[in-house]
Amino acid sequence: MLKTNLEEVKDNIQTTCQNANRNIEDVTLICVSKTKPKEMIEELYEGGMRDFGENKVQELRDKYEALPKDITWHMIGHLQRNKVKYIAPFISLIHSVDSERLAKTISDEAIKNNRTIDILLEVNVAKEESKFGFDIDELSEKIEIISKYPNISIKGLMTIAPYVPNPEENRIFFAKLYQLCVDINEKNLDNVKMSELSMGMSNDYEVAIEEGSTMVRVGTSIFGERIYKKL
Ligand SMILES: *Cc1c(COP(=O)(O)O)cnc(C)c1O
Repeated sequence: MLKTNLEEVKDNIQTTCQNANRNIEDVTLICVSKTKPKEMIEELYEGGMRDFGENKVQELRDKYEALPKDITWHMIGHLQRNKVKYIAPFISLIHSVDSERLAKTISDEAIKNNRTIDILLEVNVAKEESKFGFDIDELSEKIEIISKYPNISIKGLMTIAPYVPNPEENRIFFAKLYQLCVDINEKNLDNVKMSELSMGMSNDYEVAIEEGSTMVRVGTSIFGERIYKKL
C-alpha cells in the first residue's frame, strides 16, 4: 500500500511539473511521517526516499536515533524554544520559525553545536487566528533582523494553507507566498537568498507546485490517515 501510494504521489508531481513547465528536480517531496512507525519510514527509505518531516521534537529525536543517518530530517511543527536543543545537532531544515526569539534560540544552539542550521520563516498568509507564523506586513522587517543572527541561514518561506474542500481556494495564498519571496529577493539583503518555498500538503500540493512550491509536505496521501492515540 505504502509503495503504491508513494508512486501515485510521485506520478502526480511529475505530471503537474510537466504541465506547469517546471523541472521535477526543483520540487522536493517530503514524506510527513508523524505518528507513523519507523518500519514505514524504513520501507520508504528502501524505496529511495530520504526526506522526512515530523512535527514533534521527542518523536523526531527517537526516529533520528533509530533510523539511518543519511535521512534528511525536516521539522515542520510549532517549535518551543526550550526544545530546540534536542534537535539542533542533526536537524536539516526547520520550516516552522515563527518568531524572532525562536530564530535567536536556534542561532544560539547552532553555535553550541558548531554548525549552521537552515531555516524557513513560517508565514500566516491566510491570516488564520489558529495558525502560527509571521504576518505578511512584518515579514521584511523581521527578515532583516533574523538574517544578522550567526549560524542560521534563511532559505525561504513556509506556509500552512487552510483546510479547504476545493484546493483551488488556496491558489491565491500560494501565489502570494511566491510573490513575497520574489519581493524579498529583490531587496538584495545581505545573507538572504530565498530559494525554497515550502507549501502544499496532501490536499493541495498540485496547486502549490503550479504556484512555485519547491517543497511539498505530504502525509496522508502516502501513509494513510493518522490515528491519534487518546491521552
Ligand atoms: C501534518 C502536516 C502535513 C501533512 O499533512 P497531510 O494533509 O497529511 O499531507 C504537512 N505540513 C504540516 C506542517 C503538517 O503538520
